[in-house]
Amino acid sequence: MPRPSRLPRSSRARTRGALVLGAVLPVMLLAGAPAPADGQDSGGPRIFISVDMEGIGGVGSPGMTSASGKDYGTARRLMTDELNTVIRALFDAGAGHVLVNDSHGDHQNVLHTELDPRAEYVQGSIKRLGMVAELDSSFDAAIFLGYHAMAGVGDAFLAHTGSGSVKGLWVNEVEVGEGGMNALYAGSVGVPVILASGDRAFGEEFTALTGAPVVVTKEALGSSAARLRSPESVRAELAARAGEALRSLPEARPLEVRQPVVTRIRFASTTRPYLLEAIPGVIRVDGSTVEFRSESMGEAYQMIRLAYRFISW
Ligand SMILES: [Zn+2]
Repeated sequence: MPRPSRLPRSSRARTRGALVLGAVLPVMLLAGAPAPADGQDSGGPRIFISVDMEGIGGVGSPGMTSASGKDYGTARRLMTDELNTVIRALFDAGAGHVLVNDSHGDHQNVLHTELDPRAEYVQGSIKRLGMVAELDSSFDAAIFLGYHAMAGVGDAFLAHTGSGSVKGLWVNEVEVGEGGMNALYAGSVGVPVILASGDRAFGEEFTALTGAPVVVTKEALGSSAARLRSPESVRAELAARAGEALRSLPEARPLEVRQPVVTRIRFASTTRPYLLEAIPGVIRVDGSTVEFRSESMGEAYQMIRLAYRFISW
């Protein structure tokens, strides 16, 4: 059986369905997955995980999500444990490869020396594709853990889109948060999101856009407090849902994205839109809002990240 990862990317994308879903997965499930060597690909489905922190089970105050805040160390431990639970469940259900992209703050939060050694890990935030860095058409599915709702949503724990400088983001006239933006990017490279976790407001927003199941980890009280489920019960549900999601992979469909893509971003200040207008193709539609057109979702994503993250003011 040829390993999908050894095929050239284009033919890998074309034949992925037949090779992995049609042939490999049932065999893996029936026979039991052989444990892949560290970071190696055993031939089963390739899964990309983006992990944020606000929506992790047991994280209920802003301080926990900030490197200088109280109990940040506990939040890192909870994030790592939740992640390891999902990674283990995926391999138990026949996954061939898991890649984790740290996606919160400086993208250096997971206690990666304690990560399941079968997974690969991407660390560091200076990357053009941010939360979806290294996600490409070689993957069979994506999972988003610890997510939060988009900017401006009420009763949503630490809701924001990218950073506090963004008041709203629209892709092809649909308002999206980080989860939506990342799911659209995944869809543009042919990858379905099969599972996510986060607070209830994120769950409602994300399932409405993608149809993907979301494990609800907490209920927000306003923006900065939350009624938490026990992290243990969150992990138990995630393990069960991850296994189910992998077994249902043949039915999963990537989110459709109309390309070229029209993006509109409303900022908290008028200075950033003024500076962004220096980039050819970026127009100001009002004092605090810019709009631009991109050939692909990948191109749009990189511009969005550049605009909120790498251009200051
Ligand atoms: Zn975050």
